[in-house]
Amino acid sequence: MLSTLKKHFGYDKFRPMQAEIITNVLDKKDTFVLMPTGGGKSLCYQLPALKLGGVTLVISPLIALMKDQVDSLQANGISAEFINSSLNQSQIDAILQRARNNEIKLIYIAPERFAILSFQDFLQSLTISLIAIDEAHCISEWGHDFRPDYRNLSVLKKQFPSVPLIALTATATPKVKEDIIRLLNLDKAKVFVSSFDRENLHISIINKKNAFPKLINILKNHREDAVIIYCHSRKETEDIAKNLKLNKFSAAAYHAGLEPNKRKLVQDQFIKDKVHIIVATIAFGMGIDKPDVRVVIHYTFPKTLEGYYQEIGRAGRDGLPSKCIMFYTYADLRKHEFFINQMTGADLAEIARNKLSTVLSFCELSSCRKKYLLKYFDEEMANDNCGACDMCTNTTEKIDATIISQKIMSAIIRTGSRFGKNYISDVLLGKNIQKIKINGHDKLSVFGIAKEASEDEVGQITKQLIDLDYIQKSEDQYPTLKLTKKGLAFLNENQKIELNKPVSEEKTGRNKRKESLEYNQDLFFVLRAIRKDMAEKMKVPPFIIFGDKSLMEMSYYFPRNKNDFARISGVGTKKLQEFSDIFLGAINDFCNNNEVSPAKFPSDTDSIGIIDIKMSRPAFHEKTKELVNKKIPIVRIAKNQNLAISTVINHIEKLIDAGEKLDLDYLKLPRDRFEIMASAFMEIGDEKLKPVFEYLKGNFSYDELRLARVLLRA
Ligand code: ADP
Ligand code: ZN
Repeated sequence: MLSTLKKHFGYDKFRPMQAEIITNVLDKKDTFVLMPTGGGKSLCYQLPALKLGGVTLVISPLIALMKDQVDSLQANGISAEFINSSLNQSQIDAILQRARNNEIKLIYIAPERFAILSFQDFLQSLTISLIAIDEAHCISEWGHDFRPDYRNLSVLKKQFPSVPLIALTATATPKVKEDIIRLLNLDKAKVFVSSFDRENLHISIINKKNAFPKLINILKNHREDAVIIYCHSRKETEDIAKNLKLNKFSAAAYHAGLEPNKRKLVQDQFIKDKVHIIVATIAFGMGIDKPDVRVVIHYTFPKTLEGYYQEIGRAGRDGLPSKCIMFYTYADLRKHEFFINQMTGADLAEIARNKLSTVLSFCELSSCRKKYLLKYFDEEMANDNCGACDMCTNTTEKIDATIISQKIMSAIIRTGSRFGKNYISDVLLGKNIQKIKINGHDKLSVFGIAKEASEDEVGQITKQLIDLDYIQKSEDQYPTLKLTKKGLAFLNENQKIELNKPVSEEKTGRNKRKESLEYNQDLFFVLRAIRKDMAEKMKVPPFIIFGDKSLMEMSYYFPRNKNDFARISGVGTKKLQEFSDIFLGAINDFCNNNEVSPAKFPSDTDSIGIIDIKMSRPAFHEKTKELVNKKIPIVRIAKNQNLAISTVINHIEKLIDAGEKLDLDYLKLPRDRFEIMASAFMEIGDEKLKPVFEYLKGNFSYDELRLARVLLRA
């Protein structure tokens, strides 16, 4: 199963429950799957479809979703087609013919087809090995999305008594679940319910005072990302979209009042990354399946927690960290009450009021929001701290950041306002880097002036200064920093500034630790642009080529050959063949033009090829090895090769990890210091340097720690 997963979908491991569900399906048993949006339901029938002999029928309610799914399967080299009203009869006939010849693994169809008798006959002529019913809640009147056509599916079990059925949904209250099981005759089905905790979503609620400037600030951090903003009324969506456009954001309004064509256009542009922000009423979201929505914002609080959960569920379906932010003011309550008061029937109004009051409690919590939300859906969270809501990650402690801000801004000015964030940080930290030397910036008074700070601290403070408009970041491919008027005034008038205390990695919560790589953002943007270009040419949404996760991994591991490229998540056989040349070309160019230090691939994934240390910079590595064997001190090796000390240690690390036998005795560190570091590594582990650096309160430099780690590992 794992090799099928990698070969056809490019993934290395299953998401929770997928393996169990697939096993059940492959055992030809009926299956009922209740899993949150983004949990990875599709794979539960797509993978079996490849393993089973005949064809798998997938019933899906929305034409747009069918097309995306089929495009995405085809991009992975899997033969799939859909049959719906968007095709003409001869197209349909051609598909049916190929299906009869067993040339198609998955056929997506709309439920209304089942009412057509000739179609039922045709189905009987096929070898059907599995029937999947997606969005199964559509069969129930109790759900929020009842589709009468789904009732046609009741015949399935009778017509295909020996074919296993799998029904999947993300929304099922007990009543809906009962309906699905009864109407589809799934009483013998094994039921799989996975946790509704979406760990990669960070949820927070902020005060609605000064909402629009706050909104702008949030969006500034997500210029290129897909964002959905939910509003209360059509008018509000129009107003906000207009104002965002005035502020040079790429935004569009979306609501039920738009012409169907216009609605379709907006959706399409969003899916193709041509419009980044959708400002919508709740009508938006049903027909789209975009996996890389990074932020969902509620500009007005929603009227039920069910709705809220569903709307935030549209963020981060690809499993990457994503944000859900709600603006809250009690004053918005009247907007909802206005509607409730117009409801006919005292019962309905009463229910609506109760639901509304749970939303209010949710907004006003002073404990974990996820715990509350899950409890509302009858799931008990074991922990009191989810690590992924504002209550659990609140770190708004302020510090006097005047001096460090002065240093950062001076460094920008002294280096001529033409460098990016990382370069400025390297200068401030006094890094021994070739480019800095060539530019003569190691002679500046700002060189090494912030040595006491960590790279991360400088980065976070710089970011805040950008957010607060002291520093302006250009919008080029390689953004550079310069001071704004406000920033210049700050320096010239000796102003003071308080900023949020930089958060250390430990405190930012489990989702960040687990999922996010410290990938190279510049390369990521380059790859994203390439992806967009290709998508345009191929007329598919960008995510069908590669998801963000794949691009992030490429920008982290810097694969330089096909073997390494194949190890990236999302790269299966077909995509390797089709896309590796273009992406590898871009990665190689990037590496040749930039100083990069690629991360090693984790060793526990099955090795398609051990990462070849000779790939990235062969000459340097070999040279380092040679000089180490001659027992030359590291400082001199660095000088000799014009490299940073840390880079040399990095080479040694890689040589050791690749199994080279080097005699490093001559590099011994002072014994007392070495012992302190050694015990810190024992205590914290040696995966990452940063926790150890922090544990030792910054008393040991990264270079020293890195070297100690090499000596410990050698
Ligand atoms: P759902 O239908 O439950 O909302 P999808 O089937 O659309 O979820 O999957 C959501 C995203 O997760 C898709 O981009 C999919 O490619 C990805 N995905 C699914 N299974 C895995 C896996 N085992 N490893 C990595 N990504 C996965
Ligand atoms: Zn929490």
